[in-house]
Amino acid sequence: MGTEKVVCPECSSINAVEMEKIGDIVECSQCKGDLNHPFALEVSDNQCSKHIRENDIAVLVDFYSTTCGPCMAMYEDYEDAALGFGISVRFLKINADKHQIVAKEYGVSGLPTIIAFKGGKEVNRISRQLSQVELTVWAHSLILPS
Ligand SMILES: [Zn+2]
Repeated sequence: MGTEKVVCPECSSINAVEMEKIGDIVECSQCKGDLNHPFALEVSDNQCSKHIRENDIAVLVDFYSTTCGPCMAMYEDYEDAALGFGISVRFLKINADKHQIVAKEYGVSGLPTIIAFKGGKEVNRISRQLSQVELTVWAHSLILPS
């Protein structure tokens, strides 16, 4: 394993991380924030694009709306699923009512839509409410060597 690029969840700067360090506290070289940040991250269009394009680690993006019932029903499950991953998979969520640029770019129509990215490319997507178990299994599948 070599180094992989990881976008800081706090300041969005790009870090080169030796992935052997997974499990340790991994500090951002800029802001000293924890790159292991095991929480779903609320992002804007700009942050979302940067995470998708610049991360070598897998990225999940939950496109949601606060007026969408299934989106809100999945909210806690998405948060809970993120807790198990830290630096290995970045869980993002973006309010598609407020931030429409990334949603348009990837042709998101129905909500919720969750898209998985690796190396800046879409891997797959699911457009329905998922359980915590389904999200966890999916995220695990993204860590396996491709
Ligand atoms: Zn940082």
